[in-house]
Amino acid sequence: MSLLIQNLELCRHDKVSLLGPLNLSLEPGARVALVGESGSGKSLLAQAIMGVLPPGVRMSGGSVEAFGCRMDQPSHDRQTLRQRRLAWIPQDPLMALNPLVRVQDHLVLRPWVHSPDCRQKVLEQMRPLLEHLRLPTDSTFLRRFPLEISGGQRQRVVLAMSLAWNPELLILDEPTSALDPDLQQEFLNLMTAIHRQRKLGWLWITHDLEVAATVADRVLVLYGGKALEAGPCNEVLKFPRHPYTRRLQEANQGVPSTEGGFLDAPDHRPAGCPFRPRCPETEPTCVEWRPWQGSSAMGIRCNRSLRP
Ligand code: SF4
Repeated sequence: MSLLIQNLELCRHDKVSLLGPLNLSLEPGARVALVGESGSGKSLLAQAIMGVLPPGVRMSGGSVEAFGCRMDQPSHDRQTLRQRRLAWIPQDPLMALNPLVRVQDHLVLRPWVHSPDCRQKVLEQMRPLLEHLRLPTDSTFLRRFPLEISGGQRQRVVLAMSLAWNPELLILDEPTSALDPDLQQEFLNLMTAIHRQRKLGWLWITHDLEVAATVADRVLVLYGGKALEAGPCNEVLKFPRHPYTRRLQEANQGVPSTEGGFLDAPDHRPAGCPFRPRCPETEPTCVEWRPWQGSSAMGIRCNRSLRP
């Protein structure tokens, strides 16, 4: 397995639950989308996978393994894995780039690259990759600082930095949300081509169902830190069974919301199903939320789904 998450639970320092218990597994080359609105726990899950939880958040249960290595425990193997086999493309590329470091210096960041000759050699080796990512390779561009290039170029520089290590699994956190529609489509096409060539697997975080349908074979829907529905994209996104997935689909199609409201803050979430305050199909039994039905790859958690 590239990624194996078992009963993962994250909480705040005051023990308020933020995410989980959550199960998820990715086999090599699998393309999975993680879908949900802001606050659903998508980015926290990405940070837990990379072993970089933000201050004030801790793991209160379960385990996260990538390529057989525990990512929730510091180790030399984890550090090596994060550089070689597992890479993170953040929502804002500036999180991965130092604004005071030139593009070329980011591209040659390797522990063994010190001399100017070695740097030049690495840059030359990267030229085909940069061209493939449609990044300029002239010295004027390479000598620019991150804030002197476009948002789309910054995202592709981060991608080039990751792909240069030939990773097997990417964690992409809303990588297209800061791009305009043309650049977004270009990035999606590029990633589809890269997947075909490299058989690269990924966990792609997005709130956009169209993006999920384009880049993934499988989807997991999160709400309030809980998994609500999972399965193949062409089933879950075309024929959603869960009321929340249906609401996401309607929102994607521009259907106005009838129930309104927002996702409750973690310390104000109701007992039982977290979608209860907004669910048009809620019933008294939803206070006692029934367990997940199915496997982690294909299943649902909704009291109504248990009806004959
Ligand atoms: S469990 Fe109840 S409240 Fe939650 S989504 Fe299903 S029907 Fe709605």
